[in-house]
Amino acid sequence: MSSQNLALDVEAIRDEFPILQREFDGQQVVYLDNAATTQTPDPVVDAMSDYYRESNANVHRGIHHLSQEASEAYETAHDRVAEFIGADGREEVIFTKNTTESENLLAYSWGLNELGPGDEVVLTEMEHHASLVTWQQIAKRTGASVEYIRVDEDGRLDMDHARELITDDTEIVSAVHISNTLGTINPVGELTELAHEHDALSFIDGAQAVPNHPVDVKEIDADFYAFSGHKMAGPTGIGVLYGKQELLEAMEPYLYGGGMIRKVTFEESTWGELPWKFEPGTPPIAEAVGLHAAVDWLEEIGMEQIRDHEQELARYAYEQLEDEGDVEIYGPEPGEDRGGLVSFNLEGVHAHDLTSIMNDHTIAVRAGDHCTQPLHDKLGVPASTRASFYVYNTRDEVDKLVAALDDARQLFA
Ligand code: PLP
Repeated sequence: MSSQNLALDVEAIRDEFPILQREFDGQQVVYLDNAATTQTPDPVVDAMSDYYRESNANVHRGIHHLSQEASEAYETAHDRVAEFIGADGREEVIFTKNTTESENLLAYSWGLNELGPGDEVVLTEMEHHASLVTWQQIAKRTGASVEYIRVDEDGRLDMDHARELITDDTEIVSAVHISNTLGTINPVGELTELAHEHDALSFIDGAQAVPNHPVDVKEIDADFYAFSGHKMAGPTGIGVLYGKQELLEAMEPYLYGGGMIRKVTFEESTWGELPWKFEPGTPPIAEAVGLHAAVDWLEEIGMEQIRDHEQELARYAYEQLEDEGDVEIYGPEPGEDRGGLVSFNLEGVHAHDLTSIMNDHTIAVRAGDHCTQPLHDKLGVPASTRASFYVYNTRDEVDKLVAALDDARQLFA
């Protein structure tokens, strides 16, 4: 009997993704690379194509009808995203290119101006390079230092170590909400509280959380929070930096140009209102329309249902892989604090070889360090294979993944 989450009509959902019907060498695609990029349902593609067919123009409130329509669509997308994550309004939602750019925006705008010798930036050992490398560089330029909260043997943060590391010298705590390698769901509210007890700020990398879980930035009380459209059924080319309004107001922009100014003279320029102050130049308009449609689409299904479906699939995958006996799985055991992905290694087979064999079966998984090289060093492996699930995946697909391991054993044993 299939114990697929009955709250979801997965087959109906799959019908909205023609790409999932594609075949290579007569085999239908099994897409388990969702932590890298999710697929895009028809309503999102349609919204973007309707925009290009009917409303395309530059924004910033041109006088003509089309520009007004494009501006309205672009601005409204901010409102919709704000509502989705519990922000107070569009002033707190800056559109960027992706999570990486959101992190760089914060690091350059706030970090370069606020950090100095003696200040500490506290990260975790499971940070994605997007934040780890960025804060390392900003620390080098400002004389600040970077500390890392330990990951314990179970793949969870050592919160005693966090309490030791976060002190009055800490200026910002930057933590990943859900690890893209371990699947760990971190206690980001608790980390934020610790930061605030020491007058530090918190930045949460929600690239793997917003697509898969209900997220309320006010409940977490995060000062800053980032995510990407392309990991949440939306298009590439758009990401979000949420920030508390008073903090964003106090921050200097890090990119300059048209659309973000209030007044410009030959001597001086002043900045426009939030969020436009941080969005110079022609922004990703069609992508904003697509992101708006993606949020509508996700909410229609329900974020709780999406979370439950993915967690159930990840639990199933974990258990099946564990039963194999020769598979090492990273991250916590399935449970409340584990999200919808599983990274693993098959004994005696390099992750790249395994992934290539998976591809022979048209199973899309990812091999590598998943932009967490220091974490892989700590795990003592150069790479792992990652299967990551989304709302359209099924148990049947997990079974195909597990069955394909046999080929690898035969070839490499
Ligand atoms: N942070 C995490 C946890 C991620 O998983 C990723 C992407 O895999 C990123 C940041 C970077 O996202 P993007 O490539 O969209 O900037």
